[in-house]
Amino acid sequence: MICLSGIVKRFGDAPALKGVELSVAEGSVTALIGPSGSGKSTLLRCVNLLEVPQQGRVQVGDEAISFDDTPRPSREAIRRLRRQSGMVFQSFQLFPHQNVVQNVAESLVTVLDWTREEAEAHSLDLLKKVGMAHKAREWPANLSGGQQQRVAIARALAASPKVLLCDEPTSALDPELAAEVVDVLRRLAAEGTTMLMATHDLRLAATIAHQVVFLEDGEIRESGSAQHIFTQPKHPRTQAFVSTLR
Ligand code: ADP
Ligand code: MG
Repeated sequence: MICLSGIVKRFGDAPALKGVELSVAEGSVTALIGPSGSGKSTLLRCVNLLEVPQQGRVQVGDEAISFDDTPRPSREAIRRLRRQSGMVFQSFQLFPHQNVVQNVAESLVTVLDWTREEAEAHSLDLLKKVGMAHKAREWPANLSGGQQQRVAIARALAASPKVLLCDEPTSALDPELAAEVVDVLRRLAAEGTTMLMATHDLRLAATIAHQVVFLEDGEIRESGSAQHIFTQPKHPRTQAFVSTLR
């Protein structure tokens, strides 16, 4: 469902990704782990083109762009590829002046031209899924962090993307509130939602991911099943990194 090949991303002269190859199978969960600054967020942002790579090919769902052939793809091509994924950020980033259901419905109305009624009905269904339908008319500021993140997940799923991208979805939350978000992510995973998630929560990665990818200095050092990465990693840097879990 996701296929990245040869992804190079530089900020000025500083390389953040140095030729990343990554595949994510339909219906599977991939966790990106690695030290701070290793390129996890940049990699996620290259999947939905919030960052545009200088080289490589990005394919998500039915859309692909090769930056080797087309260094400056059209806005339309970027928009089409971007619509294949929904993104959840560490800091929730709900629209503060819209209530919960408006937050979820917004892109359906403004981007996909749904009527407000259709969009809100669909959004209420999604809010039920994340256990937030009872707060549909509430303002984001009146919600806990865990509740805001659950709304952000519903919003990311609103336009039925092929892939859910999550950047440290539980990092801003106390353990108790993180647990309710993990619960929702686990349920989505069980339903077959394809996910690519950066997380520093190795326990979350160990329990939810089919594939774990260890990133360091903009390069994938090692990837494999959670079982492999957490119990018998081959690369010494992976060994050192995951030993913090034990
Ligand atoms: P992680 O999410 O693993 O902590 P990031 O993807 O945020 O890592 O960062 C990878 C590298 O790219 C870091 O060296 C970071 O400083 C750099 N970087 C990320 N975003 C930018 C940016 N917008 N401008 C300049 N440098 C950036
Ligand atoms: Mg990050």
